[in-house]
Amino acid sequence: MSAQNTTQETKQAENLNVLTQTQMVIKEALNKLGFSQEMYELLKEPLRFITVRIPVRMDDGSIKVFTGYRAQHNDAVGPTKGGIRFHPDVTEDEVKALSLWMTLKCGIANLPYGGGKGGIICEPREMSFRELERLSRGYVRAISQVVGPSKDIPAPDVYTNSQIMAWMMDEYSRIREHDSPGFITGKPLVLGGSLGRDSATARGVTIAIQEAAKVKGIELKGARVVVQGFGNAGGYLAKFMHDAGAKVIGISDAYGALYDPNGLDIDYLLDRRDSFGTVTKLFKNTITNEELLELDCDILVPAAIENQITSRNAHNIRAKIVVEAANGPTTIEATKILTERGILLVPDVLGNAGGVIVSYFEWVQNNQGLYWTEEEVDRRLQDILVRAFHTVYETAKARKVDMRLAAYMVGIRRTAEACQLRGWI
Ligand code: GLU
Repeated sequence: MSAQNTTQETKQAENLNVLTQTQMVIKEALNKLGFSQEMYELLKEPLRFITVRIPVRMDDGSIKVFTGYRAQHNDAVGPTKGGIRFHPDVTEDEVKALSLWMTLKCGIANLPYGGGKGGIICEPREMSFRELERLSRGYVRAISQVVGPSKDIPAPDVYTNSQIMAWMMDEYSRIREHDSPGFITGKPLVLGGSLGRDSATARGVTIAIQEAAKVKGIELKGARVVVQGFGNAGGYLAKFMHDAGAKVIGISDAYGALYDPNGLDIDYLLDRRDSFGTVTKLFKNTITNEELLELDCDILVPAAIENQITSRNAHNIRAKIVVEAANGPTTIEATKILTERGILLVPDVLGNAGGVIVSYFEWVQNNQGLYWTEEEVDRRLQDILVRAFHTVYETAKARKVDMRLAAYMVGIRRTAEACQLRGWI
């Protein structure tokens, strides 16, 4: 049997649907916490899911109609919260799963939100600045009835940024006829953004790495780090690791990966990357993303997209710690394999919660009209994440479950209790 055949069969055998994978773990978490089957029925899907069609006038005069989604998983604890993704591979199930993960993140970090998420099927790398503006404004017009500062608060995600948040905030404020900075987070500073929001996901990942390294007895100075993805999370993270004295030996983008056992020049690479985090095209000696994941290293950080570590390659991962900066990069089967092999996995809903935590700070600042220093933002982020890490870690030990299931247990409990207290179940 050829290697390709084996790969295809393994792929068929393993469930790569992120929604059904997430539902399996939610079910197990609710079971372990003693909640009923009805609670699972309520929480396995978003309470509200809308599909919108967005006509956009393209620069050549033609009109293209895009499909977008917004999922609001659960608002028992508070308004829903979560980013908007612009990507050609966006699907309904993916947006739903991403909204479930947001509920878990907000639960773990104890933020007064439930989870939400949005996505538009598009190829932003091939669209002009003005086309992106028209698409962003069109999406807000299409969802404006169901979102708002105390209903559902969007934010950036894959291939969306502070400029897109600015257009969306402007469109929403015009529709509502009053200034509404709290409608969306991840805005530019002059429009009510928060200091530290841009780098927040990577700051959070760094805190999770520091705590995981302590637990594993690994010295961060000199540790060999591999980062998959060089966008907002991966780029800042490589920089923070480099600045902390770790050796970043591998990075990648959507097209390939770079490897240097002596450590890469991260400042140089950041300087050369484009706005979509692409840099490897400039180099000849590249390796593949698959090879990157299997490099011999101490800390591996998948910071790109879903289903990167699967049952196919989990046996070959050589890191001691895997911290998920991306959403859903490791499958459930791979989580089991890594855990059995003694690798400490910090799951996405804990590892990358720094983004939504600082989004919460941004919303609080918008609501009170009083803005904090970067030190204040960092201190509060550190407090929340260190506590969250140890709560999940201790739960995993006490309940003898893997870190993902422990995180789901910690994350879902509050929402389930809020549903009960509101009398929904
Ligand atoms: N898109 C980020 C995430 O997946 C941030 C969401 C937010 O700030 O609301 O966590």
